[in-house]
Amino acid sequence: MLCLGIESTAHTFGCSVLEFSSIGNTGQLLSDIRESYVPPEGTGIHPREASRHHAETSSATLKRSLQKAEISIKDIDVIAYSAGPGLGPCLRIGAVVARTLAAFYKKPLVPVNHALGHIELGAMLTGASDPLVLLVSGGHTMIMAFSGNRWRVFGETLDITIGQLLDQFGRALGFASPCGSKIEQLANQSSKSYLHFPYVVKGNDVSLSGLLTTATRLALDTSNALPDICYSLQETAFAMIAETIERAISFTGKKQTMIVGGVAANKRLAEMLESACKRLDVNLFVCPIRFAGDNGAQIAWTGILEYVTTKKQVSIEKSFIRQSWRVDTVDVSWR
Ligand code: AMP
Ligand code: MG
Repeated sequence: MLCLGIESTAHTFGCSVLEFSSIGNTGQLLSDIRESYVPPEGTGIHPREASRHHAETSSATLKRSLQKAEISIKDIDVIAYSAGPGLGPCLRIGAVVARTLAAFYKKPLVPVNHALGHIELGAMLTGASDPLVLLVSGGHTMIMAFSGNRWRVFGETLDITIGQLLDQFGRALGFASPCGSKIEQLANQSSKSYLHFPYVVKGNDVSLSGLLTTATRLALDTSNALPDICYSLQETAFAMIAETIERAISFTGKKQTMIVGGVAANKRLAEMLESACKRLDVNLFVCPIRFAGDNGAQIAWTGILEYVTTKKQVSIEKSFIRQSWRVDTVDVSWR
């Protein structure tokens, strides 16, 4: 069975073809093609400009994805699209492409929660079976565990996400967004002299906006070396997350932890979580870097899981997008 997954929540328009096998419920990726909108240096994602990018690149991306998979659109059995959470104008482009294909070629249409997509693809690629999940991306900073047919949230950011923290600080410095890997590179050049940052953990939740204010203020003082600011920013933010992960592991008793989302690409974050997991005798799984950020494969895999277990699909008229669709409101029947 073949599923086409379409991703368009924010900066990336992605199309992926995945082949599902009911023997062992496994998935094989036949293609994963993406085009990303890159905002001008020093600015963030402009929803209208990103959606224009998606509209302009969608047909070529779809074509390349089908070519890479060596199939025709008529061979597809299910069409899954990212229905939220995300930026409205961007989500609408993916939904329109998915609806059009589903209506014209008479294929079942399956809306997928984007965060669930990050989790399920991470689990498929790493082999994690029942992990405590850390989803760290542009749109999320969340700790979740599966219980009673849903992913339950054990902790999250009270204000901005870790991706927003890194991107907004990078933009203030005039870098092109996304800035996470640039900040990681700079942090690696630091002499490791720690500058003071506010450390705000409330229960299992973290507050990151004070770190952004502090980093921006420190950067105005030219006597502070930029690599040291980036290093201290990362150390503080990641230590806050590691503390909440440790508490969530103790509380849930999970024996696995998995990091997914674009920030999972950060080596220092993985290193800090690795040492926390080691202390608690827990296995750490890190989503492979290529699939850490947004992609169509996460949507194809989650969409086909949903379809084969529930046979649920939406009519074109009832298909939807939801800009604020929380993952803990979605019923999961395949776990
Ligand atoms: P996503 O929304 O899942 O596509 O993730 C995008 C986010 O990941 C952006 O905020 C990026 O800055 C961030 N990111 C990408 N690579 C890294 C990295 N090496 N270190 C930290 N953050 C990163
Ligand atoms: Mg994402």
